[in-house]
Amino acid sequence: MSHSLLAPSSASVWVRCPGSVTMRAQAGLPSETNDAAEEGTAAHWLAASILGQEGSDYPGDTDYYLRNWTQDPAGTLITEDMVHSVLYYLDYLKMQGLLDGTFFVEDRIDIQSLHTGCYGTADFWRPPQGNDLVLDIVDFKHGRGNVEAFENWQLLTYFAGVMDALQVEHKVLDTELTVRLHVIQPRHFGDREKVWEQKASDLRGYVNMLRAAAENALGSDPRVASGHHCKHCPARHCCPAAQKAAVEAIRFVDSATPHPLTEEALGYELPALINAIKALEYRKESLEEEAIARIRAGKNIPYVNVKHGTAQRKWKKTAAEVIRLGAISGADFKMPVDAVTPAEAVRQLKKAGMTEKDALTYLDAVIDKPKGKLKAVIDDGFKARKTFTN
Ligand code: SF4
Repeated sequence: MSHSLLAPSSASVWVRCPGSVTMRAQAGLPSETNDAAEEGTAAHWLAASILGQEGSDYPGDTDYYLRNWTQDPAGTLITEDMVHSVLYYLDYLKMQGLLDGTFFVEDRIDIQSLHTGCYGTADFWRPPQGNDLVLDIVDFKHGRGNVEAFENWQLLTYFAGVMDALQVEHKVLDTELTVRLHVIQPRHFGDREKVWEQKASDLRGYVNMLRAAAENALGSDPRVASGHHCKHCPARHCCPAAQKAAVEAIRFVDSATPHPLTEEALGYELPALINAIKALEYRKESLEEEAIARIRAGKNIPYVNVKHGTAQRKWKKTAAEVIRLGAISGADFKMPVDAVTPAEAVRQLKKAGMTEKDALTYLDAVIDKPKGKLKAVIDDGFKARKTFTN
């Protein structure tokens, strides 16, 4: 599959570091795929296949899908966990009424207003229907890591492309249009349904930032800026800015801590340390990946070797096949009867007609959600902006 140089999925990186686009291209990326990425691709394929073949009245029976869709076109196995995740996502679309009327699934969106040749594939979007001037764009995340809908650059990039089409073809005014950007994360342990609702005209500033970053990225002197976004940049192993940030982080550890340690000094040093540790982590991860790739290619890296870590064994076949295999030799491979997970319980209650909030209230007495250990986090104003912009 071809990729846009300015891929929406990496917009959160290139909007902050336009130089990452050139760095990625020069580093000869994309790098090899991994299990998580393959599972994500398979989950998206399954969701689109279910909607394409079964329509909005798709069956809610997990076994039905495990019987009929065993693997995606790339050979990634369809698992029970994946089917649960996909059904949660589809149930969300249904409950929100997004499967009524016209909608688009896994749809290529050209984003010419940002830059010629910029395009991406949106998981799901639904244009305004008649006089109902609401635009919904949905991103389904099969992974567990938290993704916010608020200031979500990937969704904002799709929004820019969709607006190009709506304004040209349907003359929709951005002052009259309500936009809902959704992130659905069925396997996330926190809030799994996030929506950021704004008037389209209030998103102009974000689109301008994307456009400025896109122009800079493809211009003659792209700006490179390191930060937390480096974590998601595949060029970090060969990036001088990331290397410099790591070296400065090491130097920082040696710098004098002001005494006495006032609240102001603490407020300065702790975030600086957190950032320094992150810069070192990103650098270490990227160098590790690079070392593994070179050793695999037969190169010798002084003082470094590779070995396999331990990973859990997992079944290559469906649960039914494994149980049958056990029965052949008189063994019982069935799990003891257990309750579904709280996430699955919520999904089933929602299917029975409850909202997410009502389902959680209903289960409140039987769900325990212990708080983790207290930890200091950097306050970059995101929460404040989210409160005042929502
Ligand atoms: S590693 Fe960081 S600074 Fe370097 S190109 Fe990527 S995002 Fe930019």
